[in-house]
Amino acid sequence: MTVALVPPITYGMGHVDADPLTTGPRYVRTGGMSRWHRPRAGIRWQDGRVVYTVWCGQQVGGLRAARPMVTADTVPDGLPVCGTCEGRAIGAGQDDQPTDRPPLLFGPRSLTPPRHCPGSRMDLYAPLPGGTAGRCLACQDTHPIRAMGGPYASRTGIVQHPPGAALFAPCPFHRWRHPRRAAPDSDLLACMCGRPLTAPQ
Ligand SMILES: [Zn+2]
Ligand SMILES: [Zn+2]
Ligand SMILES: [Zn+2]
Repeated sequence: MTVALVPPITYGMGHVDADPLTTGPRYVRTGGMSRWHRPRAGIRWQDGRVVYTVWCGQQVGGLRAARPMVTADTVPDGLPVCGTCEGRAIGAGQDDQPTDRPPLLFGPRSLTPPRHCPGSRMDLYAPLPGGTAGRCLACQDTHPIRAMGGPYASRTGIVQHPPGAALFAPCPFHRWRHPRRAAPDSDLLACMCGRPLTAPQ
């Protein structure tokens, strides 16, 4: 049995060529680890290697070929489970809550949509006739456009606004952080890693 993984969010371009995994085993460790950890996110490289980021922040798998990764649905060998991993995995909703104590809560902020549309204050809009409003390319809502920046760096942008209902589905690696035009004169968006950004189906 597998559990749902969260997207393999990254702040760089380190593993964007790999495929994000949406499900994984409940517990993992390598032969040298003294406790089991719980996968939070995972990727599969083109050569087939699988690497999990566990909830406590370590990476399991991949290059440690000398000490192969072991996976389990229930802990089989009496080894302890990493408390950080267990608490965060349950608190984030990856697994059932305990029934004999108050619920655990862990909410990674980067998973929830941003408070302000990522098109806010950017030139990511299609101007509407009249020149005072534009259609936001990130969420498709219409808002006023304004001059922004100082006198020496004047540009126009769409005003800050909450994300519209058609906000693009997040990049698995960079979420909503790095939208740009797919091409200089295109009204389609792509992430900085090149993945197209379109509204959820
Ligand atoms: Zn852990
Ligand atoms: Zn928008
Ligand atoms: Zn990306």
